[in-house]
Amino acid sequence: MEKGLIIKSTGSWYTIKKEDGTTIEGKIRGKFRIKEIKTTNPVAVGDWVEYKRYEKTAIIFNIRDRKNYIIRKSSNLSKYSNIIAANIDQAFLVVTISYPKTLTGFIDRYLVSAEAYNIPVHLVFNKIDLYNGKLLGQLKNLKTIYEKIGYNCLETSALKHINIESLRKLMKGKINVISGISGVGKSRLINSLDQNLNLKIGEISKFHQKGMHITTYTEMFELSTGGYVIDTPGIKGFGVFVMKNEEISHHFPEIFKLSRNCRYYNCTHVHEPNCAVQEGLKNGIISESRYKSYLSLLSGNNDKYR
Ligand code: GDP
Ligand code: ZN
Repeated sequence: MEKGLIIKSTGSWYTIKKEDGTTIEGKIRGKFRIKEIKTTNPVAVGDWVEYKRYEKTAIIFNIRDRKNYIIRKSSNLSKYSNIIAANIDQAFLVVTISYPKTLTGFIDRYLVSAEAYNIPVHLVFNKIDLYNGKLLGQLKNLKTIYEKIGYNCLETSALKHINIESLRKLMKGKINVISGISGVGKSRLINSLDQNLNLKIGEISKFHQKGMHITTYTEMFELSTGGYVIDTPGIKGFGVFVMKNEEISHHFPEIFKLSRNCRYYNCTHVHEPNCAVQEGLKNGIISESRYKSYLSLLSGNNDKYR
């Protein structure tokens, strides 16, 4: 049996990158089932598969265990989920302070999902060429908040080509997801990373706009400097999923760390006495915006950041 990486999925046909670097088109034999979730697509981009060659095509027999995967519901009412991608090494959340303004609620919700999925996130503050005065101050504050928690932050300008090389280096040899609200400069960043890539992604965006195979079509693009980028028009965030209240605090690393010192083991950090998190908020160890996001997720108030 040969081994390969799925780099494109149309729902029925899969493009497999072989170990020698060339590709082969393949299909699945039989039915794969993943225990805990009902999926519409058993194999996703980023999956390592084992296949046998049959004339010019491949038959996929087995998927290797995934280190992680991101899913989205096929539709609002459906019990079925669609695996967008598997084995993601890291995500890049592109953020702008202004033009457009990315809300901290959105950033935090994204970070919580990424923590839950076990995907490290880099925050990319783009459009730094536009900022001065007050906006630079806001940029500095935000960076301080997130760096203190442990998130790597990067300042870029896709327009002026600032720090693009650093971005390229970080992405090298890895499977990368790029996300961010519309208008923050994702396309332009991708374009400055690799001109070729942008043209390809442009094609897939057009394809999606026609409304074909929206739920199943995904592709990873290879960077000429090495590594892959996943940019499906569907992923603005990682989607919202149901989390137990105590689980939410586990995905705020700085809150989780302090919560060990709370008086009650099941402290919600809202109203309890001797709460180390509320204490941390007073001392400035926990930032107000992060705490606000925590409360918002706790009350199930997700919609406003969508
Ligand atoms: P996307 O929706 O995230 O893909 O954003 P685009 O890449 O389409 O960029 C949105 C707008 O912001 C375009 O007009 C870009 O030219 C502009 N833009 C992107 N990056 C930068 C940047 O670093 N600096 C400035 N000044 N404009 C940028
Ligand atoms: Zn507490």
